[in-house]
Amino acid sequence: MRIARFTTEGHDPRYGIVDGDDLVVLAGDPMFSGFETLDERVPLADAKLLAPVIPRSKVVCVGLNYIDHRNDMATPAPDTPLIFLKPNTSVVGPGDDIRIPPVAGRIVHEGELAVVIGKIASRVPAERALDYVFGFTIANDVSARDEMFRDGQWARAKGYDTFCPTGPWIETELDHRSLEIQTYVDGEPRRHGNTRDMVYSVEEIIAFASDVWTLLPGDLILMGTPAGLGGFVDGQTVDITIEGIGTLSNTGRNR
Ligand code: MG
Repeated sequence: MRIARFTTEGHDPRYGIVDGDDLVVLAGDPMFSGFETLDERVPLADAKLLAPVIPRSKVVCVGLNYIDHRNDMATPAPDTPLIFLKPNTSVVGPGDDIRIPPVAGRIVHEGELAVVIGKIASRVPAERALDYVFGFTIANDVSARDEMFRDGQWARAKGYDTFCPTGPWIETELDHRSLEIQTYVDGEPRRHGNTRDMVYSVEEIIAFASDVWTLLPGDLILMGTPAGLGGFVDGQTVDITIEGIGTLSNTGRNR
């Protein structure tokens, strides 16, 4: 089932189940109030899709989680998962602009599988990790690459407003273990990988991260980017497609 968050003219954000070319409107936020539907359908063409979730507390990211990307970055494998945070204020939705700050160096796209946490998770063992997953979506871990190296840590370079596009919806029934991930800039292929090549699995990362922080419903975990370098500039559109989910599109704009 695909769950979208959307607005239409004159309405506050609502939730709907994607059904063909329509959204079947839900009575409330399905993460907290289930999947009760209203007797209302909205054509997808009439809806503006929003970020399918705004994390209550945090966006957890995994760095260097694909061998090929480690080779791109000339970085040896860490002994344990490398996790970091992006602020929830970096999250924007499908079609929203990525506002490029006036910084030196490249702005890089990182197309990633994103896990949406559905229940409070603290010190969860990997064997039970999927019980805490609401579903999966797509995210772009946008990074000001030269600032990452200059700062020596990534809070600024990956934390700017709009640096976490997310969507277009949450897929609640997905086998996440072998999914193709493609990233394009203005239609040109830039990055390609498959989730089977992740160093640490979704289950292992939920176990590892929930041992550090309590994960709250709506928190996101971005599972890392596959190989491929390159960035984007003002006016260019980044499309990220993950098999079984869909395509997330956002355009860079100088702010
Ligand atoms: Mg990343």
